[in-house]
Amino acid sequence: MALLIVNEERHDKSLTLEFSGRVDESSALPSLTQCESLVELVLDLKNLTSMNSMGIKAWVLWIKQVPKHLRIIYRRCPAFLVSQMKVFLGFLPPGARIESFYVPYFCPACKAITAIPYDNTPQTALEDSITCPKCQQAAEIDIIKSDFLP
Ligand SMILES: [Zn+2]
Repeated sequence: MALLIVNEERHDKSLTLEFSGRVDESSALPSLTQCESLVELVLDLKNLTSMNSMGIKAWVLWIKQVPKHLRIIYRRCPAFLVSQMKVFLGFLPPGARIESFYVPYFCPACKAITAIPYDNTPQTALEDSITCPKCQQAAEIDIIKSDFLP
């Protein structure tokens, strides 16, 4: 089912848009009117489940319409977007930043994928492996680190 739900929360000069569900060609991305008094736009993607190529196209066009005076912050980017980091090129207009993200870890023993949250800071170091929460074996990082953190 193609369904996207966007919750808006406004705190003073910051607007947070919380996305749930999937983004595709039929998704209604929120209109960005009445942004004059805002300084910050936070895009919380924790509950985004998928985005197809048409959805990515729509998203890139949408993000281009964000008024230039707004600081764009991507919060809690899901693992599926992190693992296709290259799509982020169009995602990140100049000045936008990824504040936090999830990194997928794959467990060869039980095939479980575990998403671990990280803050995006200069000090952030991604673990190469974690203990699988399902079977306690070692789960390996499932992205190419150098593609992500320089
Ligand atoms: Zn496991």
